[in-house]
Amino acid sequence: MESGIFDSHAHYDDRRFDGDRTELLDGLFASGKLFAAVNCGCDIASSERSLRLAEAYEGVYATVGIHPHEAENATEDDYLRLEELCSHKKAVAIGEIGLDYHYDFSPREKQKEAFIRQMELAEKLGMPVVIHDREAHKDCVDIATSFNGVTGVFHSFSGSAETAKILQKAGWYISFSGVVTFKNAKQAVLAVEAVANDRLLVETDCPYLTPHPYRGERNHSGYVEHVIAKIAEIRSESYEFIETLTRENAKRFFGIERVVT
Ligand SMILES: [Zn+2]
Repeated sequence: MESGIFDSHAHYDDRRFDGDRTELLDGLFASGKLFAAVNCGCDIASSERSLRLAEAYEGVYATVGIHPHEAENATEDDYLRLEELCSHKKAVAIGEIGLDYHYDFSPREKQKEAFIRQMELAEKLGMPVVIHDREAHKDCVDIATSFNGVTGVFHSFSGSAETAKILQKAGWYISFSGVVTFKNAKQAVLAVEAVANDRLLVETDCPYLTPHPYRGERNHSGYVEHVIAKIAEIRSESYEFIETLTRENAKRFFGIERVVT
């Protein structure tokens, strides 16, 4: 019988896993705690690393894309290479793409240009997208929903319950991270209440966003149990219900049929 966590957003290629990556992933899969993880690219190099990880682990899948932080530096060659990477059989979405008005590492016009360009690629290839939206809710939602043929997930959702409702009505998924376990997460709690059963996903965004009570430590997929437990509490459901629901939703969203014996 299938069981375990589906971590819809991770960065196991991050340097912070260099010392124990194999041991950690082997352990999470062997224990049955982790069903699958999607490792997300942020530029061409990390997209390629994500695909290498996906080749090494049956339960790891990859997204390929150019993060808003990297928008300014992306070259024409990068976009050509990105399209090639999309044809890899374990590339399940284009991402993470979007807008980050918190750090503004790339000028906003460049961020929008890169976002729109990758939405166009998703439309052309019929792939879903993984959206990074930091303090850019309005522009992100406007651009994302302006493409009728493309849907995806807003990762580590930080918008309002109203925004969540608009997105799910348009066919989008909402993913929650360790942020929902933080003490001041009032808006996230309202959003968790607003999301429909069939639109809900969970994630680590590891090594970042470690849930309470491990906040400050390096995050990993095993800690998603604290995110699931918090969501279960907010929605008055059992842990098992939310774990199964988010696993089934992620399989459907990413088009994954993993056979576990
Ligand atoms: Zn991420």
